[in-house]
Amino acid sequence: MDPVKEAKLEKILEQVQKPSRYTGGEMNTAVKPKEKAEVSFAFCFPDTYEIGMSHLGMKILCHIINKLPWAVCERVFTPWVDMSALMRQEGVELFSLESRSPVREFDIVGFTLMYEMSFTNILEMLSLAGIPLRGADRGEKDPIVVAGGPCAYNPEPLAKFIDAFMIGDGEEVIQEVCEVIREHKRRGTSRQEVLRALSRLEGVYVPSLYTAEYHDDGTLKSLTPLEEGVPATVRRRVVTDLDGAEYPDTLPVPFTEIVFDRITLEIMRGCTRGCRFCQAGMIYRPVRERSVKTLLKQAEALEKSTGYEEISLSSLSSGDYTCLKELIESLMERFEDRRVSVSLPSMRIDNIVKQSLEETKRVKKSGLTLAPEAGTQRLRDVINTGVTEEDLTRAVTDAFECGWSHVKLYFMSGLPTETDEDLMGIGELNKKVINAYFAVPKEKRGKDLRITTSVSVFVPKPFTPFQWAPQDSLETVKAKQDVLKKALGMKYVRYNWHDGELSYLEACVARGDRRMGDVIEAAWRLGCRFDGWNEHFRYDLWMRAFEDCGLDGDFYALRERPLDETLPWDHIDAGVTKEYLKREWEKAVGGKTTRDCRKGCNACGLQRWKGACPQYENAGRV
Ligand code: SF4
Repeated sequence: MDPVKEAKLEKILEQVQKPSRYTGGEMNTAVKPKEKAEVSFAFCFPDTYEIGMSHLGMKILCHIINKLPWAVCERVFTPWVDMSALMRQEGVELFSLESRSPVREFDIVGFTLMYEMSFTNILEMLSLAGIPLRGADRGEKDPIVVAGGPCAYNPEPLAKFIDAFMIGDGEEVIQEVCEVIREHKRRGTSRQEVLRALSRLEGVYVPSLYTAEYHDDGTLKSLTPLEEGVPATVRRRVVTDLDGAEYPDTLPVPFTEIVFDRITLEIMRGCTRGCRFCQAGMIYRPVRERSVKTLLKQAEALEKSTGYEEISLSSLSSGDYTCLKELIESLMERFEDRRVSVSLPSMRIDNIVKQSLEETKRVKKSGLTLAPEAGTQRLRDVINTGVTEEDLTRAVTDAFECGWSHVKLYFMSGLPTETDEDLMGIGELNKKVINAYFAVPKEKRGKDLRITTSVSVFVPKPFTPFQWAPQDSLETVKAKQDVLKKALGMKYVRYNWHDGELSYLEACVARGDRRMGDVIEAAWRLGCRFDGWNEHFRYDLWMRAFEDCGLDGDFYALRERPLDETLPWDHIDAGVTKEYLKREWEKAVGGKTTRDCRKGCNACGLQRWKGACPQYENAGRV
């Protein structure tokens, strides 16, 4: 950044909330001279510093790029509204935290797509950086804009803004993308040539090399490559050896409070349970575990370099980790005298092990969060959670016996086939949790029972068996919330509900096609930013954006899609096949469950890829 702008920035920092969001310089920050690197990568998280710095994927990928001797990676977060207003007023462009370099001077600008409601922040960041919003308007001097993360599995809503999407696990493909840029910089080839070369990488989708056609009724007719050599289908990347995959041995320690301020160990990736609403459970398949030895080594290194007092074991379903008991015992043994606690944030109800509760409370009692998801067994079978009422009663009884007294319960409303009886069932389950607490002797249980029950609105997502399902209309959402208010009006229970409007928009964008990009841009131009933040969410502006673009949100969110409709993400091969998802959708409607595929392969599609699924390769062939 030039000295005049630097001086302006210093002045701005005196006027904004939480200036440490923008200063960098945290302990353990990787500092590599940007000017000496052959390839520079601005890693952009389209939300605040506090949210982005809690994100594990960003830390892993920045570490991997910075390990390349010829590349440098620096971090960028969305400036909060006070900061962006002052930056625009003073003519200060978006800059990176490490070297305060203007983002538009990096070779690659990469966004991580964690949730749909951060998409307007991507446009905000591009605009603040002075990079043309649309790929088609970028010139030879502009960076290549890439994106990855779970929302990249349906890349179409952002197709106009992103030059290349990385689909699947990022550890390997991000290095390959950097290598392509390095090679082309050396040769001085054109932007178009670079994009072509990127499209040849497995797992990379370059949307400008494809064209979309629509039927008269607005549904997608086809999405086809524009030239020879561009793959018709883009196959997602899978890291098969997770234990050997790169993992940071140090982390920047923020000065300011962030959402998750602790060491995170990713103990495994993927989930075999097959919950039908869960996109993560489908797109991160197969299950791959890290060994206890590797995890202990990582924990040691991270504890030493950061001084954190909490280690969180992260995965989609930590209780399914094969050596959980051994891992917890080893961690407790090694860190107890240093007052380091171990937390297990994503435990399924049916595999909460009493011993794990005992072990984790020895140092510090962490909160207990359980997700029954639906109120009746019938609906839990429809969504295939495999969780029973007995599992819930046992889990809360164990927790109360270990001294817990605060429990958080998560449910969804609007799931396919749901009736009022299922909603009333949520109330019934809460009563059972209260009864379980009072059944535990007073001297064992903790004081002051508190149950926080949150009910979110179901959002159908791509690459799930519910990708064809309609979402509830806003009127239905409101009516169901009234039923729930009555069902949950009881002592000890606090009922939290989510706004239907936000979930409606999430459903529109999640299953959107290329035309949705116009709506996102129109919404941003009308002033939408930080849509995931209640205080900034402007449903009225989004509705105006839909109207201005001549599109109807209901077409995307509320319509049940016929099984033979071409879906905007059909050209992405996520591993799970459409045939498998259809089978699961039909079984769901019929109330039939599907086994956990650790008990035998369900032929989800991964078995087509040689060596990709260890369960299938080792034992699961049926
Ligand atoms: S291939 Fe079979 S075992 Fe592997 S994730 Fe799919 S269903 Fe499970």
